[in-house]
Amino acid sequence: MLNLQDDFPTDIAKFPWTITDANLIRSLILYGPCKPDINFPVNNNGKRFSSSYYFLTTKSGTKIPRTWLCYSYNLDCVYCESCWLFVDRSYGKFKWDWIYGINDWNHVSQSIQRHESSIQHLDAAKIRSIWVKNETIDASLEKQYTDEAVKWRNVLKRLIKIILSITAGNCALRGNEGSLKIKCATEGNFLRTVRLLAEFDPILNDILNDENQKN
Ligand SMILES: [Zn+2]
Repeated sequence: MLNLQDDFPTDIAKFPWTITDANLIRSLILYGPCKPDINFPVNNNGKRFSSSYYFLTTKSGTKIPRTWLCYSYNLDCVYCESCWLFVDRSYGKFKWDWIYGINDWNHVSQSIQRHESSIQHLDAAKIRSIWVKNETIDASLEKQYTDEAVKWRNVLKRLIKIILSITAGNCALRGNEGSLKIKCATEGNFLRTVRLLAEFDPILNDILNDENQKN
């Protein structure tokens, strides 16, 4: 799991090169890519990384974030988060270089451009976007289930209160509804109270009027 006390909790240096635990992948994606904007260390050639690489600048000057491009504070190298977490390692031309990290600052610009147009990377980016979309669908389904559960919990709470209130007064719940001889039986104390409350309570009202709930 992520160590949130850490300055850069999603830095690849703290994790295995290959991650199969879906929960860990979910946490890494949710927290966001490791993109420190620091005073980057200078190497022996006097070169260093620059945070401007986090963006792709188009000819018209528009800056597009390179979501995938991360910098490891602990390893002083750049790596591809999308390839690290999503690439198919059985792919014939699979390469580890952008997972193990790149620190050749002389050629980093070309290296980035080559990587972001490589088939391996484009495939990983595609898998990442499908994964993120599915996660969103899962989350919205989960919310639907929770909403439904809350609704029925509220309905039950009301019905139990009504039953307790009627029985506390020693009243029968069904009234004379059970008599087979009476064709037009009254609905009994319980149903009558439910209907009465439904006139003022939107939750019970919804249930009584929802055609889908009948049958
Ligand atoms: Zn990549």
